[in-house]
Amino acid sequence: MSEPSQASLRAEALESLLIEKGLLTEEDIDNTVATYNERIGPMNGARMVAKAWVDDAFRQKMLADGTAAVAEFGFEGGEVQKLVVVENTSQVHNMVVCTLCSCYPWAVLGLPPRWYKDPAYRSRSVREPRAVLAEFGVDLAPEIDIRVWDSSAEVRYMVLPLRPEGLDNATEEELTQIVTRDSMIGVARL
Ligand code: FE
Repeated sequence: MSEPSQASLRAEALESLLIEKGLLTEEDIDNTVATYNERIGPMNGARMVAKAWVDDAFRQKMLADGTAAVAEFGFEGGEVQKLVVVENTSQVHNMVVCTLCSCYPWAVLGLPPRWYKDPAYRSRSVREPRAVLAEFGVDLAPEIDIRVWDSSAEVRYMVLPLRPEGLDNATEEELTQIVTRDSMIGVARL
């Protein structure tokens, strides 16, 4: 077994202290983790994307006010007090980062992936987004504009990916299944 990291030691120390002081129970912690791992997750975001693809009024609403669009679904989980949805087009590719730490719209995308918190992703996404995207397997034509959005405690971003071609007869439910977490962070295409 490998040595626990500094961060996990710190988290464990904090957890024991909060339990000892009676501010939290182990059950609270387990419930929170289970909630995000099992009940909330990128499926919430995927449902919004699929709806936006089939319902143009909803798409416009989501782009105008992401927070209001989320409210329609009534997802639990928070962290989207202010959600901004940015739309990929044939000319523009959006990607999301938190350069400061790891701000992320939990209620729509679940828990952030490990690499999202990686200092290399956080700094390089701003400096050389095209190179970072290529490492994720996204090779964009040079004429496509890349826009990088820096999430913060106040504003969280989510990408509305391009709807893949050739799915004209797919139902909203089927479309939901093809939307990936990474496509909504902007490091993958569908
Ligand atoms: Fe952050």
